[in-house]
Amino acid sequence: MQDITGLIHHPYLPPDGFEAPQPGVFKASTVFFPHVAAMRAREWKDKTAYTYGLHGTPTTYLLEERLCALEGGQQCLLVPSGLAAIALVSLSLLKTGDEVLIPDNAYGPNKSLAAAELKQWGISHRTYNPMDAADLAAKLSPSTKLVWLEVPGSVTLEFPHLPALVVACREKGVTTALDNTWGAGLAFKPFEFGVDLTIHALTKYPSGGGDVLMGSVVTVNEALHLRLKLTHMRLGLGVGANDVEAVLRALPSIALRYAAQDQACRSLATWLTTQPEVAQVLHPALPGSPGHEHWKVVCQDDMAAGLLSIVFKPAFSTAQVDAFCDALKLFRIGYSWGGPISLVVPYEIASMRTPGMTTGVLPGAVVRLAIGLEDVRDLQADLAQALHALRA
Ligand SMILES: *Cc1c(COP(=O)(O)O)cnc(C)c1O
Repeated sequence: MQDITGLIHHPYLPPDGFEAPQPGVFKASTVFFPHVAAMRAREWKDKTAYTYGLHGTPTTYLLEERLCALEGGQQCLLVPSGLAAIALVSLSLLKTGDEVLIPDNAYGPNKSLAAAELKQWGISHRTYNPMDAADLAAKLSPSTKLVWLEVPGSVTLEFPHLPALVVACREKGVTTALDNTWGAGLAFKPFEFGVDLTIHALTKYPSGGGDVLMGSVVTVNEALHLRLKLTHMRLGLGVGANDVEAVLRALPSIALRYAAQDQACRSLATWLTTQPEVAQVLHPALPGSPGHEHWKVVCQDDMAAGLLSIVFKPAFSTAQVDAFCDALKLFRIGYSWGGPISLVVPYEIASMRTPGMTTGVLPGAVVRLAIGLEDVRDLQADLAQALHALRA
């Protein structure tokens, strides 16, 4: 055998008995079969064997299992982003003539996907008021095949009565999909509330670093999982082993990071309620924040993600509130959350919501804060100096 061939067909095998805190990282498109009969016989749909990198490696299977443990599910699919997880669910479960219901305060791109892409396939969508289970119940029709749930709503953080929404759907036999990114499998166990599946932007807490994009779809029903898995396979969705490794590296500290950001965020939320420029602080653990009483029912361990939004008094113009964001030094201007650096984004809520679908959010410019892992005293001082600049 020539040297170069020996380099490629080397006889080394990693030892079976090697154990360490972090698992090995397996990367593959090609997976070898011992003979043709094995290739023909191998089943890609369950985890009894490997067939091709896109259908799973020991590294992706490991993350899938850990995410099932985190969310209390049975089966998991990994996709390249949280939004891809939403798209996979809608594309798998809906066909021409079907309707999907989406909360009015859903993660914005979920609504755009329905309005721009699903529409082209003859799939209609309507939004419902997540704070009104009767509104959802009234909109369920024989063509409703999927209802999205989000707990709490995006940016404005209204906490819906999750049990009532799920019951309304179950009574009509409609599949429920929960965007569980905020709860992260920690604040509450989604499947205990009877949802059919969850999606999770692993980009946020599971990654924890602001450096990975990934999503998951977790189920508790093998038939539903298989339906999603077939679409997942046909769409060619896969994730990179290095990204999976990064999430596996960060998962052991997720509960600590979640708790730390929760604590810092609540302390800032409480302090912000005392500031004269602030009309309302949106954070489900605050009495007076929309759906606070529902949060107490769902999150019985008193947990919340490190997100809050400030509604400024209507006297403050968009330009002034933009200047407040620009004046912040530790809070960086940027999307996403769950990482070490605190982030700020201003939003024009009126343009994001259906007129008349009120949820208890007061009028005024909204700024969302995502709390990182900095010392909370420094974060409060940063907010104080930016508010001071607003006053001047
Ligand atoms: C960030 C986010 C997503 C999308 O995740 P990406 O990985 O950024 O695509 C979906 N839903 C919620 C609630 C999110 O916060």
